[in-house]
Amino acid sequence: HNGGGPLLTVFLFDRRLEESLCEEKSLRIRGGYQELRADVCETFGIRPSEAFVISTTNRKQLTDSNFNGIIKDGITLYILNRIDQLLSSSTQERINFLPHYDTLIKSGSYEYYASEGQNPLPFALAELIDNSLSATAKNCGIRSIQIRLLFDESQGKPAIAVIDNGKGMSSVQLKNWAVYRLSKFRRGSEVDSEDASYVPPQPVARSLNSDISYFGVGGKQAVFFIGHSARIITKTSDTQDIHEFILSKDDFEKKEKNNEFIYTGYIRNRKPADFSHVTEDDKNLRNLIMEEKDKESFTAVIVTGVQPVHIQYLKNFLRLWVTQLAHIYHYYVHGPKGNVLGKPKTIPIDIEVYMFEKAKVPKILNLREINDDMQTLYINSAADSFEFKALVEREGVVEGIIRYHPFLYDKETYPEDPYFLSRGNEDIDEIDDDCIIVEKEARGRRPIFECFWNGRLIPYTTVKEFDWCTIPKKRGFVPTECYNRISGVLFTNDKFEVSTNKLTFLDLELKLQDKNTIVTRVTNGQEQRVKIDREFALWLKECHENYDKQIKFSGFK
Ligand code: ATP
Ligand code: MG
Repeated sequence: HNGGGPLLTVFLFDRRLEESLCEEKSLRIRGGYQELRADVCETFGIRPSEAFVISTTNRKQLTDSNFNGIIKDGITLYILNRIDQLLSSSTQERINFLPHYDTLIKSGSYEYYASEGQNPLPFALAELIDNSLSATAKNCGIRSIQIRLLFDESQGKPAIAVIDNGKGMSSVQLKNWAVYRLSKFRRGSEVDSEDASYVPPQPVARSLNSDISYFGVGGKQAVFFIGHSARIITKTSDTQDIHEFILSKDDFEKKEKNNEFIYTGYIRNRKPADFSHVTEDDKNLRNLIMEEKDKESFTAVIVTGVQPVHIQYLKNFLRLWVTQLAHIYHYYVHGPKGNVLGKPKTIPIDIEVYMFEKAKVPKILNLREINDDMQTLYINSAADSFEFKALVEREGVVEGIIRYHPFLYDKETYPEDPYFLSRGNEDIDEIDDDCIIVEKEARGRRPIFECFWNGRLIPYTTVKEFDWCTIPKKRGFVPTECYNRISGVLFTNDKFEVSTNKLTFLDLELKLQDKNTIVTRVTNGQEQRVKIDREFALWLKECHENYDKQIKFSGFK
């Protein structure tokens, strides 16, 4: 700590005397233990011949030999008669409790627990798509979101890039990207903040408002679930400058080792297509940077250090997880009516997956081309639908659709969910003495409703039923099987809370069942105050009479 070392300040309390009133004093460290002792004598008016000790708040006595190990900037020390004496009056000690950087880099590993037998990786990717949907919300032309799986090792280390042509980020916004838990609601509220404050979107059908950012954690959790380093490259349309920032586990560890501030770093500001900072063997990154030339505004999130298990999964189950993404964003890529097969659509949102592997032709899948996600199956096997709306606590809006999947000739048309069995529902009690009854009663034990939040599927929350659309206690108008021929969707706005990983709703079902919740029927876009249970029962009866067709063999001998 002598000479050229950093300037350190220590805080001292004189607690030698019974009634010491003197408050904290600060001293600059200008040398070793002897210098400090001399300064203490001078500052506190102690004669050099007087006996006293200098102690840490842990009651470790300072000496010549331990001085350098103990003294840190801002440390609190006591001046005492004896090392173990009673504190005659209280003291105050400055502490700093910045969260550990594991807050960031381990945020993903515990958030995306694999549950219901599903691999949560697609849900982590979804967080990055959520961000891109938000960023492209105000695009004039096509909204393009690409997930590029760069797994051709001859082109550099494996990487996953999510690239959008959205509004991009200024350097202040890029800094804010990295701030854990800085939600949009707090943006722009800091004094002289250069970030814009939040303006809620106008209500739209099915709450497809693209406003899916909420907590300020998703992107970080996702990248550190997938890998251990993320590079964000971004540009807004009002400048030529590109901003680039890296958040990585290695960096954090290095900073910790070197005793540097953990939550600091550098944004690289550069001209488009300038890859001079990238090593030659990282062709993937160089190619991405070259593409910047023609872009007005964009954001690319490039994850490296991708865990090998993730790479295996993404390669081996490509079709499966792309279908899951198609399910999550069904109404964004197909529009509020969903994927009605055979009807051409002009929805300007392209979400595409590109898989690059060594010595293979790249595979490209557009979510819009997926025709076997559950929503597509429900929509296209439905004969009729019943729409309703629920209003919860004034601002909570839920739009609902119930669809009827008739019995046709010799079988139910209710679509099977290929993943339902693998979702931890093996305890089916039809299994009776080695004899599995294959006949299925349409929906079976599946819940009726899948739930979308701001138009985006919340995959682990379903709503089983409402009392007005479940099998009635008394005999109804229709055979009970008909109640098993309905599927449903709920679309909520963001007045309903979801967990930070966007996997579950917190209390959707409870709120919907509240007796103050007002449910109206919607026909041709018009809301009608009706008795919803009666309306539903009548609708179901009509469905049964009009659409169920059963073959009856007669005169058969
Ligand atoms: P949530 O926890 O709900 O995801 P969030 O989206 O705000 O909230 P992050 O996903 O970590 O949290 O993203 C932080 C912020 O960075 C976003 O609010 C947004 O302002 C900005 N951002 C992230 N991705 C993009 C992108 N692709 N384009 C532009 N800005 C982005
Ligand atoms: Mg987000």
